[in-house]
Amino acid sequence: MAFRGVDYFAVDSLLSQQELMVRQTARRFADERILPVIRDCFRDARFPTELIPEMAELGFLGANLEGYGCAGMNNIEYGLVMQELERIDSGVRSFVSVQGALVMYPIYTYGSDEQKNKWLPALQSGKAIGCFGLTEPDFGSNPAGMRTTARRDGDTWVLNGEKTWITNGGISDVAVVWARAEEGVVGFLVETGIPGYRTSDIHGKWSMRASVTSSLSFSDCRVQESARLPLAKGLKAPLSCLTQARYGIGWGVLGAAMDCYETARAYSVVRKQFDDKPIASHQLVQEKLAWMITEITKGQLLALHAGRLKDQKKLEPAHVSMLKRNNVAMALDCARLSRDLLGANGITDEYPIMRHLCNLETVKTYEGTDHIHALVIGERVTGVAAYK
Ligand SMILES: Cc1cc2nc3c(=O)[nH]c(=O)nc-3n(C[C@H](O)[C@H](O)[C@H](O)COP(=O)(O)OP(=O)(O)OC[C@H]3O[C@@H](n4cnc5c(N)ncnc54)[C@H](O)[C@@H]3O)c2cc1C
Repeated sequence: MAFRGVDYFAVDSLLSQQELMVRQTARRFADERILPVIRDCFRDARFPTELIPEMAELGFLGANLEGYGCAGMNNIEYGLVMQELERIDSGVRSFVSVQGALVMYPIYTYGSDEQKNKWLPALQSGKAIGCFGLTEPDFGSNPAGMRTTARRDGDTWVLNGEKTWITNGGISDVAVVWARAEEGVVGFLVETGIPGYRTSDIHGKWSMRASVTSSLSFSDCRVQESARLPLAKGLKAPLSCLTQARYGIGWGVLGAAMDCYETARAYSVVRKQFDDKPIASHQLVQEKLAWMITEITKGQLLALHAGRLKDQKKLEPAHVSMLKRNNVAMALDCARLSRDLLGANGITDEYPIMRHLCNLETVKTYEGTDHIHALVIGERVTGVAAYK
């Protein structure tokens, strides 16, 4: 049966016709194109690359950017696309988040005209794939400690170091790489295949199985000055990209939570135990469903308000931290409750719940862990930074 949406509090009445239409397009694509393949992709640890051209055609890549073939969606429309993709799988949403927010956005914001003209149309149309290399083996939550170096040598730069846990790494044509130079943190567009640059995929993941995650290594890797992002100065440049991606995550995980809630709700009215009564007739079961729908509704309102602020250019990184942290934790709790309500059936991949649950463990960690976002909120309300 087609997904009817989760809207307890008439949140749809706050959306424009255009926003509803974009959601409907994304919903249909998710149900008709991702859902039929995702279980096997997750089992086989395979990202469905065959869907990239269609996602590009629908305007999902770099959706909230203007020009260069981008769809120019507002931030609610963009968020609703993320929601519908992640309703099926966080890995597919991650692909779109990375391509748009972590690769196209930095080129769009910090790139030269030549870089924009070369890469943005190719990335928007899915003809090129990108990745974002910030995390290193010894520096995750604290990227300021990064050890990857960029040394200027005439008109070129020499990169040395390693990045890890990089989404899309092994399937990328271009990597946005952040490195430490004399003048501080700088960013480069490193093309696959150049000498000294190698990738290797990470295997054995129980989370994000339908997503490629890789390590990148740079060994005396020489790039031209024209590959440097000229306007990216210091760590605030990569952090600004993460703010874009985290905003999309705040919406995306609503989709995963909705799928977990709706699966448990539908199951509870047909599954019978004790005197041939549906488990939905038990108060403890209803309490769990009531918790889930209440938290999803609060998460929807938070995301919607964040989107309206973002469209007005009033959304701040500390707002995005609250959105990401709250909605991811809520979605993870919904997945756990849903798994519980499905009993033994909940552990199989006949249902989507364990996939969401496993994926959301990554979503809790990447793009700033739950702890780090708590510290961002804490700093905002106290004025005291407590990271160290
Ligand atoms: C599937 C996947 C895809 C990813 N994709 C990308 C990508 O595309 N590009 C990229 O650059 N990175 C990517 N990452 C990396 C991700 O951003 C990091 O894993 C994340 O930043 C956390 O870093 P870490 O894993 O090194 O954990 P650590 O930083 O080692 O943290 C471990 C624990 O310590 C806690 N902790 C650390 N410091 C503090 C503190 N000051 N106060 C309180 N608690 C603290 C953390 O909250 C966490 O619970 C990805 C990760 C995964 C799993």
